[in-house]
Amino acid sequence: MTSDKTTHKKSNLKALGLISGGLDSLTACLLVKKQGIEVIGLNITSPFCQYEINLDLFRKNLGIHVYNLPLEDDFLDIIRNPKFGYGRHLNPCVDCRIYILKKAKEFMKTVKADIIFTGEVLDQRPKSQHLKALHIVEKESGLEGKLLRPLSALQLKPTIYEETGIVDRSKLLGIKGRSRKIQLDLARKHDLLQEYYAGGGCLLTDVNYSNRMKDALKFNNIREIEDMKILKYGRHFRYNKSKIIVGRNESENDMLLQLKKPDDLIMEAQDVPGPITIIQGEINKETLNYAASLTLRYSDLEDSKGKIMYGKDYQNLNNEIIPKSQPDEILKKHIL
Ligand code: SF4
Repeated sequence: MTSDKTTHKKSNLKALGLISGGLDSLTACLLVKKQGIEVIGLNITSPFCQYEINLDLFRKNLGIHVYNLPLEDDFLDIIRNPKFGYGRHLNPCVDCRIYILKKAKEFMKTVKADIIFTGEVLDQRPKSQHLKALHIVEKESGLEGKLLRPLSALQLKPTIYEETGIVDRSKLLGIKGRSRKIQLDLARKHDLLQEYYAGGGCLLTDVNYSNRMKDALKFNNIREIEDMKILKYGRHFRYNKSKIIVGRNESENDMLLQLKKPDDLIMEAQDVPGPITIIQGEINKETLNYAASLTLRYSDLEDSKGKIMYGKDYQNLNNEIIPKSQPDEILKKHIL
């Protein structure tokens, strides 16, 4: 593998790595790059991801350009009806991996990549990274024998790249399990990372977010992937056929105003600091009163008595309501 011919051949190879932004994808990129193969990255951006990918780590430290592709609306079908089921909450991990790899396989054509790899580690995640799941993901994405996993390669059947010698299997690793010690040592040894902070993870694995998501799917509030963003902000209440979202602080209030749809109603307490409340779905007198009581409850008014303004245009809230105050246990009964 050290002949000039091989080196020359390798220098023409291009590998596409799936980048989640964490330590595993970083070290997987390092292992492939160290073989003299050009590496480019692909990050699938998702509203469920709770951390920002640090592209500088890849660009400055490894000289890798990372492309971004957003999750598309067809991902909703996966959440609604995953062929391989859910994890503990609403996380359809096996189907999600297949979906992402299918997109990446298509993207290989755009960037003319010869090799595709991920930072997956055998048995690191109980639902999606055991041996059987890795095989399913590979097969269903149309990448059987063609998906390189540099961190766990020695635990797995050689890929076509290793069999044909374009990737040197002896320079890959055989990591198995949840510990990240080997990856961390490797990253430090190559000066890629001083401190490692684990990312915040995926919202679909979060029980509260999953409950909101289930409710939204049940009431058909989700039509496109963008509709999911609002599920991240505020306190959510289901009241008959309406959904009421109450901001918890100023930045959530801003986000709710940005993410509301034209038909949603906005409420705010008059002349006192407090939440922005958004009402979606069917709205009647009872709903208005309940939402207004919630708006007062979470405002700075001590006795929860006062006037609430509402309307569809935040600059022009010209309807008013003075709600009956209600005990906390009634108000919180409908929280999601
Ligand atoms: S944790 Fe979330 S992003 Fe990761 S595979 Fe599962 S569903 Fe997909």
